[in-house]
Amino acid sequence: MIDICTLGTGGTMPLYTRALSSLYIRHGGRALLLDCGEGTQVEIGRLGWGFIRLEALLISHYHADHCSGVPGFLLALAKANRLEPFHIYGPPGLTRVIEGLRVIAPTLTFPVELHELPPQGDSFEAAGLQVRAFPLNHGMPCFGYRFHLPRPGLFLADQARALGIPVQAWSFLQRGERVADWRPEQVLGPERPGIDFLCATDTRPTAGIREAGRGTQLMILEGMYGAEEDLPKALKNHHMLFREAAQLALEAGTRRLLLTHFSTSLEDPAAFLPEARRIFPDTACAADGMTLSLGWPEAT
Ligand SMILES: [Zn+2]
Ligand SMILES: [Zn+2]
Repeated sequence: MIDICTLGTGGTMPLYTRALSSLYIRHGGRALLLDCGEGTQVEIGRLGWGFIRLEALLISHYHADHCSGVPGFLLALAKANRLEPFHIYGPPGLTRVIEGLRVIAPTLTFPVELHELPPQGDSFEAAGLQVRAFPLNHGMPCFGYRFHLPRPGLFLADQARALGIPVQAWSFLQRGERVADWRPEQVLGPERPGIDFLCATDTRPTAGIREAGRGTQLMILEGMYGAEEDLPKALKNHHMLFREAAQLALEAGTRRLLLTHFSTSLEDPAAFLPEARRIFPDTACAADGMTLSLGWPEAT
């Protein structure tokens, strides 16, 4: 099971009524953050899922609405007495940007480890999730992220007993950890389908998003503009219309589409939902502080 909170759903600048877009993703006591605009720490505090479990921050790109909250956020982690390393991932330019932001947050209680990813993206593990960063089309280096939570095979208790493995070791093996000379693959059945979802803001539609969306339960895409007359603005600023996001969800064959990163000019994003639902019926608009859970595929 994975819990996701859309901490904020705004693009460009925060409004009194809408924080900047950021996701809090947690599972099994571990957590990570995707994007960290101004004020993100306030929204994390409001949510109540805590700071201390956050192990990593993934940054989509270096427009201020996605990273200007980093200094305050790191200081909040220090205030929560974090001691373990904190990991930050992002497209080329990460070191320069974070070192610049760290000038105003120089003293922390923990080391910050930077992972500057190559322009074509990369695969890595963060907070127990398998993550794939892939390039978007935003007029500057920008990544979408696809997440995969693997699900181990069923635990074969009869086999564990036959091998003489003590019961105290079972839960470790079940989690994929070795115990003494015993290996998880000795007592686990074949791997079962895991949980897959992706998030892609800010961008024009791309074949890469469509491809990365295949086999996902959920795609979180930007809905910067709703009205058709805003298409020239979307083209100029490298953003999407609701209907373009819906078309990507349809072509990727995902189960659900959640729109976020709304323009400040979009007072009531839900007013444009019918446009998107005509193309992809299972579309919803995110709201600040909204939470949703993704279960194992058989259960949903
Ligand atoms: Zn943005
Ligand atoms: Zn941007």
